[in-house]
Amino acid sequence: MMHTIVVGAGIAGITAARLLHAAGQRVVVLEARDRIGGRIRTDRTAGFSVDRGASWIHGLTGNPLTGLVSALGMETREFTVGSFQAGGRPIADYDESQRLLDEDATRQWTADVDTADELFQLTIAASGHDESYADAAERTLAATGWEPERTERVRAFYRHRTEEQCGAEVEQVAAHALDEDTIEGDEVIFPGGYDVLPRTLAEGLDIRLGMTVTAISRSATGVRVDTEHESFDAAHVIVTVPLGVLKAGAIEFTPALPDAVAGPIARLGMGVFNKVFLQFPSRFWQDDVYAIRQHGRAGVPWHSWYDVSVVSGKPMLLTFAGGAWGQEIEQKTDKEVVSSVLGSLRKIYGESVPGPVAHWITRWGTDPLALGSYSYVAVGSSHDDHDALAEPVDGVLHFAGEATCGHEPATVHGALQSGHRAAERILGSPISLAELTRGLNPSNGRLR
Ligand SMILES: Cc1cc2nc3c(=O)[nH]c(=O)nc-3n(C[C@H](O)[C@H](O)[C@H](O)COP(=O)(O)OP(=O)(O)OC[C@H]3O[C@@H](n4cnc5c(N)ncnc54)[C@H](O)[C@@H]3O)c2cc1C
Repeated sequence: MMHTIVVGAGIAGITAARLLHAAGQRVVVLEARDRIGGRIRTDRTAGFSVDRGASWIHGLTGNPLTGLVSALGMETREFTVGSFQAGGRPIADYDESQRLLDEDATRQWTADVDTADELFQLTIAASGHDESYADAAERTLAATGWEPERTERVRAFYRHRTEEQCGAEVEQVAAHALDEDTIEGDEVIFPGGYDVLPRTLAEGLDIRLGMTVTAISRSATGVRVDTEHESFDAAHVIVTVPLGVLKAGAIEFTPALPDAVAGPIARLGMGVFNKVFLQFPSRFWQDDVYAIRQHGRAGVPWHSWYDVSVVSGKPMLLTFAGGAWGQEIEQKTDKEVVSSVLGSLRKIYGESVPGPVAHWITRWGTDPLALGSYSYVAVGSSHDDHDALAEPVDGVLHFAGEATCGHEPATVHGALQSGHRAAERILGSPISLAELTRGLNPSNGRLR
């Protein structure tokens, strides 16, 4: 009999499996897709890397990924504008009339975000679990006494922050939702693709692809995991499927999950955040900027473009659709989405903006094995719900994955840490993350 069955070959599942394997356990990983990596997914159909899921390490300092990707020899590029940040790196900001903000106006806007943010932290500290991020933002903005245009820009900043960090609208997200969201140090992306990480860590593991888990039953002595075709028995199971899949009840648990776990599954939110990459025949935007940003009403629905040419070596922009808009674009055709993005770009750069030579559009919300992009703290829930979801059930059933990591949900490193925690709980003793790379050849980090 297996010691442990891991459900899902994303970064959480692979981390847990590799650590347990390193500790001498017999482990099998059951993955429904025909590939590993889950929400880390690199598309190489065009001959270069396009990361349709995660792209960034959000902050190198104190991040377990930093040492890991370096040990694996993965090539990285500094790209410290991984979301709707106001400053930090050169950004071409356009005002409501598509005029480029000059240095003074840019300085004023970033200073306004800093000032409002300080006030915002105090407002949030005084907020309860039933208050939304929107409530706290409005109280903060009212306290600034700024004129409407100035206020509106910062209001949009808060809106875009929850759309991107949570994949949800500012009214759906709890005031405390982003308390944990601190980025320390530079951010980086991967010219060779992020999936090199899970693919390298998967080496030597028993991973069965095309295995959709439909039911898990448990007793005091172990678990039985049913897939569509086969059943597996083990002492423990670690379930790492995304929160959206758990919410949809795609896996039947017997006996039913206790409230301590079912409650967090119901209360936490699963957000939708999608990416649109456009590859152009030539560049029409500034050479020296990390991002292009449209402020004000003209920034609805598209407001930010990130110059990811550094990854592909081609003239390429990446834009995001999060929250309600992220869900909406999943119902549109590629042609409709591309022409909508082009319409916004042409308002800024003129009608001569060429059509793209290629595009990539993600649809994570309707992907049945994700049913969303990442979890968030919805109004009425708290970060404790993330960790409560990971509390072992009857000593044999464990949950891991980004949604179970209270201090860094919705990230690759949060998912990795959750896999580490599940492995340690099963082993009943600490195990170093350094075990992940033992015996791996760093040159594998450039695997294509
Ligand atoms: C568009 C997008 C952009 C992102 N950007 C970033 C970023 O820049 N930086 C960052 O740190 N994070 C980012 N994230 C978040 C990050 O990708 C995730 O937090 C992380 O990859 C989740 O890993 P996981 O192992 O928890 O889940 P997953 O990677 O989703 O793994 C779970 C696995 O379970 C499988 N599965 C589902 N149902 C079943 C079933 N019934 N039976 C068997 N297997 C099943 C799935 O196929 C999947 O492979 C992004 C996410 C998205 C969607």
